[in-house]
Amino acid sequence: MQPGSTGAGATRRPIRELPDELISQIAAGEVVERPASVVRELVDNALDAGACQISVRLLAGGVRLISVEDDGCGILPNELPIAFKRHATSKIDSLTELESVSTMGFRGEALAAINSIADCALLSRVCDQNHAYILDGQSGEIKAAARSVGTTVEVKELFFSTPARRKFLKTDATELAHCVEAVRRHALARPDVGFTIWADGKQIEQWRRCGQRNSLPALEQRLADVLGSDFVARSVWIDYGGNASGRTDSGIRVWGRAGLPDAARARADQQFCYVNERFVRDKVISHAVRSAYEDVLHGQRQPVYVLYVEIDPARVDVNVHPTKIEVRFRDSRDVHQAVRHAVESALATPRSDSVNAATAFATERTNGTADAPRYDPQNVPPVLAQKAQKAIHLEAKWSVNDVAALWPSQAQTDKPQTPPVALEPGQPVWPLGRALGQLQGIYILAENARGLIIVDMHAAHERIVYERLKSQAHSASGSHLPLPSQPLLMAVTFAASPLEIACAEAHSATLHWLGLEITPFSAKTLAVRAVPAALAHGDAVELARSVLAELSQHEASTVMARAHNEILASMACHGAIRANRHLSIEEMNALLRQMEATERMDQCNHGRPTWRQLSLRELDALFLRGR
Ligand code: ADP
Ligand code: MG
Repeated sequence: MQPGSTGAGATRRPIRELPDELISQIAAGEVVERPASVVRELVDNALDAGACQISVRLLAGGVRLISVEDDGCGILPNELPIAFKRHATSKIDSLTELESVSTMGFRGEALAAINSIADCALLSRVCDQNHAYILDGQSGEIKAAARSVGTTVEVKELFFSTPARRKFLKTDATELAHCVEAVRRHALARPDVGFTIWADGKQIEQWRRCGQRNSLPALEQRLADVLGSDFVARSVWIDYGGNASGRTDSGIRVWGRAGLPDAARARADQQFCYVNERFVRDKVISHAVRSAYEDVLHGQRQPVYVLYVEIDPARVDVNVHPTKIEVRFRDSRDVHQAVRHAVESALATPRSDSVNAATAFATERTNGTADAPRYDPQNVPPVLAQKAQKAIHLEAKWSVNDVAALWPSQAQTDKPQTPPVALEPGQPVWPLGRALGQLQGIYILAENARGLIIVDMHAAHERIVYERLKSQAHSASGSHLPLPSQPLLMAVTFAASPLEIACAEAHSATLHWLGLEITPFSAKTLAVRAVPAALAHGDAVELARSVLAELSQHEASTVMARAHNEILASMACHGAIRANRHLSIEEMNALLRQMEATERMDQCNHGRPTWRQLSLRELDALFLRGR
């Protein structure tokens, strides 16, 4: 028997302390599963540094490069090497502080772990210095460099030293998607911070700063930007324990937006939960939400929601998971109750599409608690305020459906009730009357107090879609915002000319702004992967072709400035209802109500009238009545 070997054949080896490098590599195994984990840690750090604007740049799904740039407080040059040390942090220095930590980070291990499995550099400048310093994570060398105040962390060739782990990575596209998801999670928690994501040299996401940290209008804007305006349209506010009443007895505030039951999905991919601005997966919270939906959601459907829980940091332990994605509540029963109650009462608020916005804020709850949200004009998101105004103005008695509802798939899910006969005295008067029927699949005939209304349904719908696209695409300051985009479940491919393919590549940034993602699929085909949310139910290929045709007539540089509206108009034309589409009376009425609520409704985008009135007098004249 060899000295040191045991009877069972295993060799006894001396106990040794592991070298620092190896300890960090082991820690990295817990902290860094994939590029997205690095992105999350670096964005955490940027937020902790008080950044207002964060840019994330990725090459090859983050495997070749992850760079996160912020305009936060920066790091002093003499502290740069310490930042890369294990268990080095500026965020806590006692157990008491650990127990009530309010920063995203506190374990002081992320940078060390990442530096042990990648080629890192730390570039930073603090405000009273006139230049920046850059630290090379491998050599430890520090040099002067140029940069404005803030920090850039560069992580190259992730897992280069641990090829076994690299093998676990999926395709670049999948890793990229996870990285984007990581930023998205941060973005939903912090509407007061702007985020940009670049992938392989192209800007793929931009979420502008929307306002103050805790403002509802800012939050609504951010939710619409990140999750799509459809998410906002099909969800209601949750607000429990907030506003004037302050925190409830339990000291827990819960707010956010809960998706309406018909917005539920097959997968649980739109459930975002935050505890004190930290994205978490928590069984207590998800169970509470699930039970709040019990009455209204059946089967396997997954509700969509974005939920923020605010609780005294001393009552939640965030140090139970290396990536801090799990937390433990000291009194989970209180949390469960607060969340369940918050979501339940949000869902119980009466609503129809038309009065949705108004009721979300204005209605006293039937099961009202002292802390139910009250209508506070100071605190209503502008979009909601407008909608509420309109809804009240129209005295909506029946659902004014969303434009999108005119598309068959949606129209079925949310049937408006039968309209009241509006022509009797005392009834609300709809300027465009109530629909009688359709003529040749082209015109809608309606009756109002003056006589007969004839509507060109394509022209009218085109205007509605166009105005909606414009309002989504232009900020108040006149700059262009990217249109909310909706990824297609299945990319649609089509045979494309070389010119179209070249155009799609040259204009990919513009296409992105237009809410479109059109990428080469093979040498002769293009794939449409995302379309503007407002046109989600139209013909994606038709839309892609027409936009590419528009774009090929313009210089890339002038498109955004000059041709933007023209392109939106052509998109609207494609998104609008075609002739020969059969509409039900309800759908026709919905269109009429939409028309009444849309600016510049009287002409279509090409200047043709969208509707005409034939007065009774004119009709009489036609029939030589009364002569
Ligand atoms: P932790 O975030 O848990 O403190 P990290 O390893 O992520 O640990 O970071 C170590 C330290 O480096 C932080 O405590 C912070 O002082 C500093 N640091 C890291 N990133 C930034 C940044 N973007 N801006 C300013 N300081 C930073
Ligand atoms: Mg950190």
